[in-house]
Amino acid sequence: NAKAIGSNQWSFFKQQMTEKAAVRLRTEASLHDAIINNEFLLHFQPKLDIHTGELVGCEALIRWQHEGRLISPMTFIPVAEETGIIVPIGRWVLEQTCKSLSKWQKLYNTSTTVACNVSSKQFADASLIPDIKRMAMRYQIDPSLIEIEITETSLMDDIDLAINKLKQLKSAGFGIAVDDFGTGYSSLSYLRHLPITTLKIDRAFVSDLPHDNAIASTILTLGKQLHLNIVAEGIENEQQERWLKSNGCVIGQGFYYSKPLPIEEFEQLYLAPRSRQVQS
Ligand code: C2E
Ligand code: MG
Ligand code: MG
Ligand code: MG
Repeated sequence: NAKAIGSNQWSFFKQQMTEKAAVRLRTEASLHDAIINNEFLLHFQPKLDIHTGELVGCEALIRWQHEGRLISPMTFIPVAEETGIIVPIGRWVLEQTCKSLSKWQKLYNTSTTVACNVSSKQFADASLIPDIKRMAMRYQIDPSLIEIEITETSLMDDIDLAINKLKQLKSAGFGIAVDDFGTGYSSLSYLRHLPITTLKIDRAFVSDLPHDNAIASTILTLGKQLHLNIVAEGIENEQQERWLKSNGCVIGQGFYYSKPLPIEEFEQLYLAPRSRQVQS
């Protein structure tokens, strides 16, 4: 009868919720110890000049090596964000980035830039700007080699706060990219007042290319008018690359060129002198 079905559904629902909550609690508890247990690592995905194939920089993407598995940031970043653990995790990412940049300058004599993702809670946290300035100083990194990536959505969370923070980052010399651009609802008139250097066209609009190109065209035009660098993310094939090339996009990132790579592999393939010769 209906009552029995209803109560069955309820208990099924309750069981599901309990499992979800349990997974979440476990994730949360393990995340707390992940830094101290050395379970995080960074992968680097190259950004290339799509006309010359030359490396222009890379993006640092965090991975969590936990109990023998590599856990995607899509799974744990939201939990880290909600619990606030994102703040120390984000600090760890910035510090590792500075360490790598410092090593690369000494070893490979390169001025490759690294883009770091900063989540909205980390962006809002008062420690971000003093932390990043202190790290750049300590590792002797020119701030222009570090590009902060903030999603369009988190910028729009609190636009006044965002403008204030971005101004501070800019005056300290850091690069600023708006990530996943086109997926949020930013007002174009605000965009003009944000001291940003780069727009990253969200993968969703790159995957529509070449046929469905209205959004990508609009972003490229906007970028040109505002004198911003445009990076197309998630390029997966030659047709997408061809369209971007002939429509004025200069920088590309995506599986078509390379997946995010473990640090040693990235260094071997993109920074070691021999590989640079082979590539050009
Ligand atoms: P995102 O910043 O937009 O990074 C791009 C994501 O797209 C990466 O996924 C990358 O591996 C993936 N990708 C790149 N090229 C392609 C392609 O051609 N095809 C497809 N299908 N995917 C491609 P990943 O590494 O899993 O990261 C997912 C998201 O997690 C990132 O999106 C970013 O929002 C967040 N994230 C990653 N690392 C960090 C971090 O250190 N801090 C914070 N706060 N968030 C991070
Ligand atoms: Mg990003
Ligand atoms: Mg993105
Ligand atoms: Mg994204």
